Amino acid sequence: MPRVFNFSPGPATLPEAVLRQAADEMMDWHGSGMSVMEMSHRGKEFIAIHAEAEATLRELMGIPSGYKVLFMQGGAIGENAIVPMNLIGTNGKADYVVTGDWSKKSAKEAKTYGTVNIAANGEPSKFTAIPKQSEWKLDPAASYVHICSNETIGGVEFHWTPDTGSVPLVADMSSNILSRPIDVGKYGLIYAGAQKNMGPSGVTVVIVRDDLLGHALPVTPSAFNYQTQAEADSMYNTPPTYSIYIAGLVYKHVKANGGLAAMEEHNQAKARVLYDYLDASSFYSNPVAKEDRSLMNVPFKLKDDSLDEAFLKGAQAKGMIQLKGHRSVGGMRASIYNAMSMEGVKALVAYMQEFEKQHA
Ligand code: PMP
Repeated sequence: MPRVFNFSPGPATLPEAVLRQAADEMMDWHGSGMSVMEMSHRGKEFIAIHAEAEATLRELMGIPSGYKVLFMQGGAIGENAIVPMNLIGTNGKADYVVTGDWSKKSAKEAKTYGTVNIAANGEPSKFTAIPKQSEWKLDPAASYVHICSNETIGGVEFHWTPDTGSVPLVADMSSNILSRPIDVGKYGLIYAGAQKNMGPSGVTVVIVRDDLLGHALPVTPSAFNYQTQAEADSMYNTPPTYSIYIAGLVYKHVKANGGLAAMEEHNQAKARVLYDYLDASSFYSNPVAKEDRSLMNVPFKLKDDSLDEAFLKGAQAKGMIQLKGHRSVGGMRASIYNAMSMEGVKALVAYMQEFEKQHA
């Protein structure tokens, strides 16, 4: 069976070179006589793997020295609780900007730990645009401002960085981390589940500014206390070793392929092919405001939703899978993360054209 074009929102397609290297190293990592899966997290082999993954991520993202990089568990949904437990403490309130299902979920979970102010909400316009910062009602006394930089379901993405003054900006970057260069120094904390642009599920990357450590609420479990994890080099509990290893291979692969500037160019080119076709077609449509469209997740609808099943079946027959949209929005969604090739996007557009001709 040849490899499919996998448009899954996550866990998602990974670079073939990474999978091949992992396969080659499966039984015997670098002459150690064991698989990475079998290594003690405290042994010299895994410590080297972990250190290299962190160093490569720091280099790729330009993470300044005043930030810790933590490899944690619990995923981005876990972080919805872990972030407020660690950061809301100072004054018990936080601002949330709601731009889609994921940030809505984050805001809801945070309410358990303090007062949540919805500073802006894109729901009245069905999450098809990011509310302009001029419309946000930020509280200057908030402990932090939370955004989701890319809404995986609705397909809206921040193409600008909010200015929150001295209030730390916290971003869920699960679905667009490593897709382009960003200025980490503008954020207090960044978190991301790995399973879209970084590797397999199981590891959550947290990049946190040093001054935000040490304010956790007393209820915070030690394994989810950023300071405890920072002091233990993410080894307070057994970290998800294999996921960290694969993420490290992905980082090296991204670096070898030109780093984040090259990823951005590649992602813009792919997204352009798909959006240009959607915009030119009267058979398919994408509801998102042009300036807020995600380069990673492209939702689209067919003119007649009774054709959805046939569309998906035809795509599957051509080796294109996981195009069904999220149940909350319906239609289709093509997730085109770093590891999706231009060839895959062009194959999708060619199929869409053919389907349109048959059914228009
Ligand atoms: N935030 C965003 C932006 C996501 O895309 C996802 C997963 N699709 C999550 C949070 C939840 O991630 P997890 O299930 O790994 O906790």
